[in-house]
Amino acid sequence: MIKESQKGSVIVISAPSGAGKGTIINRLLANDSKNRWLSISTTSRPIRANDIPGVTYNFVAKEEFETKIKENYFLEYTNYAGNYYGTPKEFISAKINAGIDVILEIEIEGANNIKKLIPEAIFIFIMPPSLKELVKRLKLRGTDSPEKIIERFKRAYQEVNEVSKYNYVVINDILDEAVNKVEAIIKAEKCRVDRIEEVYLDTKEEEIHELLLDNQEFINEDFKIE
Ligand code: 5GP
Repeated sequence: MIKESQKGSVIVISAPSGAGKGTIINRLLANDSKNRWLSISTTSRPIRANDIPGVTYNFVAKEEFETKIKENYFLEYTNYAGNYYGTPKEFISAKINAGIDVILEIEIEGANNIKKLIPEAIFIFIMPPSLKELVKRLKLRGTDSPEKIIERFKRAYQEVNEVSKYNYVVINDILDEAVNKVEAIIKAEKCRVDRIEEVYLDTKEEEIHELLLDNQEFINEDFKIE
C-alpha cells in the first residue's frame, strides 16, 4: 500500500579528531558491507604512518588539489588545519541510485555544505565522553606533533560547540553502544515519512464494501452499512 524510496541515504558523520569515528565507521561497514559505501576523500595533507593511500585517502599535492577544485571535481571541500580535504563527486549519485548508503566522514564546514546540497542527508555527530578524554586519545594516537595536537584540540573544542547543527549526537564512551545507536539512527531514518514515494490503494471499492458487510458485527452502530 506504500511505496518507499529504494534509494540509498547520504550519512554524514563528523567528530573531533580522537572521538573514535574511524572505528565506528569501520564497524558500520562491516555490519552491512553490501549496502554501505564509504566515500574516499582526496587530501593534500602529508601521509601518516597508519594511512593507506587509496584506502584512507587519495593523497595529492596542494597544486593538484587546486586544479581539481577548478575542474569542479569535488562535491564539497575545505581547508582543515592547513590542508585541503574534499569529497569527489564521482560515484555518489550512482551509489545512491543503486540503493547503497553513502557514508561521508567529513568535518563541520563540509557537513554544512552537504546540508545545502542534500538537505535530506542524515547528519550524525560523534562526541568523545569528555574533553579530557579527547586530549588523552589525541596524545595516545601518537601520530601528530605536540603543536598539531594543540591545533587539533582547539579545533575539536570549537567543533563540539557546533553540534546543534546536526540531527543526531552519539557519545562514544562504550564502542558497542555507540555503534548500536548509529545503527538505530540509520534504521529509523529509513522509516521517515518523507521517504514515501507513493501511497496507493490496491483494493477495489466493491471489495471494500463487501469486506465491511462481512464484518458488520465488529462495526460500530453509527457506521452500519446497508
Ligand atoms: P585527518 O587529517 O585527521 O584524517 O582529518 C581531519 C579532518 O578532516 C577530519 O575531521 C575529517 O573528518 C575531515 N575530512 C576528511 N575528509 C574530508 C572531506 O572530504 N571533506 C571535508 N570537509 N572534511 C574531510
